[in-house]
Amino acid sequence: AKADGRDTFRFFEPVMDERLRARRELELDLRKALALRQFELHFQPQMNLSTDRLVGCEALIRWRHPTRGMVSPAEFIPLAEETGLIVPIGEWVVRTACREAVLWPESLSVAVNLSPAQFKSRKLVEVVASALSSSGLAPRRLELEITEGVLLQENEANLATLHALRDLGLRISMDDFGTGYSSLNYLRSFPFDKIKIDRSFVADISTKPDCVAIIRAIASLGLSFGMTTVAEGVETADQMRRIRDEGCTDVQGYLISRPVPAPDILRLLDRQGAA
Ligand code: C2E
Ligand code: CA
Ligand code: CA
Ligand code: CA
Repeated sequence: AKADGRDTFRFFEPVMDERLRARRELELDLRKALALRQFELHFQPQMNLSTDRLVGCEALIRWRHPTRGMVSPAEFIPLAEETGLIVPIGEWVVRTACREAVLWPESLSVAVNLSPAQFKSRKLVEVVASALSSSGLAPRRLELEITEGVLLQENEANLATLHALRDLGLRISMDDFGTGYSSLNYLRSFPFDKIKIDRSFVADISTKPDCVAIIRAIASLGLSFGMTTVAEGVETADQMRRIRDEGCTDVQGYLISRPVPAPDILRLLDRQGAA
């Protein structure tokens, strides 16, 4: 049925109700998902461009919903964030990621995404420390990825948390670099170990000279700050060649591998003959 303009009120109300209802239902399901063990971690490898070897993997959460099938994190992470459920879910992610990574060769690290709400949680540093010690993973093999959203209010508390995490011996990456407003200022206020160049720049690298210029600038920034620069979302050989030419140190994307379940990572490593 199409709204005829005069009747929009009556037309939209049930639509809004329906959306709210669907959201509430998803939220209720999300509350149960941890206990029902419906989450999985998939891992996407990152490759170093000077050695062509895998250097680590990013852990990406997956929700196997009993009736909806796989629900994308883009759909439920924002809801988990709003409801605070991201705190227990995030704790599960970091513990699980450490437990998996300890089975990999020592040269490989694991990267975990942190959301802004997790950052505000008082327990974060304690939880990460406990995940490291109970798994036995060497702290330098854990990376935490944060977006500019985390530092949005660039306050003392956030900086103190970043430093406390760093003091555990792990590494901190700036995710989706280039998409926010004051990226350069963030780099000045906290010494990140790694910059992840947002996929949107990589997607257009073959056709848009301004994207090439931006990637080149970020790569050289990384070089002078002593930071690793990872290009995200590399899908084609042409993109990889250009990224290599511009001086990025690492790549991640479907060209290397899609995110895969944990056992497949060990198989990928076997194939490259990692010790
Ligand atoms: P992100 O951190 O930027 O993760 C990269 C996303 O790009 C992943 O989507 C990955 O599957 C996708 N990707 C990787 N390579 C390619 C490529 O070559 N082409 C294209 N088109 N896409 C590629 P995914 O797994 O759907 O995750 C989406 C977002 O959800 C993540 O973006 C991250 O912000 C969030 N997320 C995922 N797992 C977690 C988690 O455990 N905790 C938190 N807080 N957020 C998570
Ligand atoms: Ca990420
Ligand atoms: Ca990213
Ligand atoms: Ca992203």
